[in-house]
Amino acid sequence: MKKPHWIRKTHLFRADEYVCSKCGAKSPQPYKSCPRCGTNMAGTKYDPTWVDEMEGFSAFMDDDW
Ligand SMILES: [Zn+2]
Repeated sequence: MKKPHWIRKTHLFRADEYVCSKCGAKSPQPYKSCPRCGTNMAGTKYDPTWVDEMEGFSAFMDDDW
């Protein structure tokens, strides 16, 4: 069994957010416990899926930036 934790999601154009691994609630900060389900969090895990998001934007960024 995995301990509940925050999944950190990094976004290019907006602030990082943290997703509860138990109930899926999103939070702007990794609180000690989930504001929705009240679970005590074991910590934060980084979710590398944002890299896909970055690749999607890369062509766009090459053109204008
Ligand atoms: Zn939760």
